[in-house]
Amino acid sequence: MSFFNTARPFIIAGPCSAESREQLLETAGAIAPLGIQLFRAGVWKSRTRPGTFEGNGEPALQWLQEVKKQYNLPVAVEVAETTHIELALKYGIDVLWIGARTTVNPFQVQNLADALRGTNVPVLVKNPVNTDVDLWQGAIERFTKVGLTDVGAIHRGFTGYSSAGGYRNQPNWPIPIELKRRMPDLAMICDPSHITGNRSRVAEIAQKAMDMHFSGLMIETHPRPDEAWSDAAQQVTPAALATLLQNLVIRAEFTSDMSSQVQLEYLRQLMDNMDAEIIDLVSRRMELSDQMGDVKKAGNLTAFQPGRWRDMVENICEKAIAHRLPKEFIVQLYEMIHHESIRRQLAILEGRENEIKK
Ligand code: PEP
Ligand code: MN
Repeated sequence: MSFFNTARPFIIAGPCSAESREQLLETAGAIAPLGIQLFRAGVWKSRTRPGTFEGNGEPALQWLQEVKKQYNLPVAVEVAETTHIELALKYGIDVLWIGARTTVNPFQVQNLADALRGTNVPVLVKNPVNTDVDLWQGAIERFTKVGLTDVGAIHRGFTGYSSAGGYRNQPNWPIPIELKRRMPDLAMICDPSHITGNRSRVAEIAQKAMDMHFSGLMIETHPRPDEAWSDAAQQVTPAALATLLQNLVIRAEFTSDMSSQVQLEYLRQLMDNMDAEIIDLVSRRMELSDQMGDVKKAGNLTAFQPGRWRDMVENICEKAIAHRLPKEFIVQLYEMIHHESIRRQLAILEGRENEIKK
């Protein structure tokens, strides 16, 4: 059983950076009673620009040792160098996480994995800053290949030039979902602090992650966020963390409550029947399209007719609006259907009818 599945949600909280012994003990004292599972603090900070606070290093590991002892709370730090791993293990750090800027570099990830060979420390791998699910999966595999059995993932969003949606890092939800599809047993923790970059939106993303069946959350927490030495805008107070956790609705994938189970089964059956009807309709629509292909061939007409496509888009958009469906969604759906129609008609025009049923 993975350490990260010992609670749902599995809550990791603590400051972005370990600033002082007092700050760590004060934060831990305020959040340990909330029943969190793991205390986080950055000790080596990989910063975008030089000249900013880069972490307190080894002395901060001693402070974390104190937190661990005084509050009986497992502790986690980010490691980016093999020397970080040696020191973290020397001070009894329980969990290591790999930062987004490290995950992008397979050479470095391999160095870190090699340094962990022979241990069985739980490791969490943040997504790479770029939207590459293979790179994220590859980094996780480098750790499991050296024999680590408890490797999880942290979704912290993807860095880009755009701040669309007001996010610091774009969530791109399909990427963590795809990783979960490929690795179903993987613990997936969401880091709403780095996704939003804004403490007023942390709760909203935390709830969304729980509704997407994530395993847990990593939330940056500071007693006086505005005075934080790093990531001030996104850290929440211990009181705000308490409210967030209290208000979090945890929904299950399965239920032993027969009435919801039965209702769900009933709705699923209706939906399966409807899918059969949709496929039947699509197939009949393709037959019409094939007949049109014959007419176009006889009349020496093109398969694709831009004017007709424009009229169709207008028509389906009107219907989408009437049914309160997003226009973009309906147009995308029809682009696929229309594309298949055209493929079949081209085959008819060019005498390749045998390709139609492929
Ligand atoms: C952090 O967790 O403080 C951190 C530096 O995160 P990331 O690697 O996601 O930028
Ligand atoms: Mn941070």
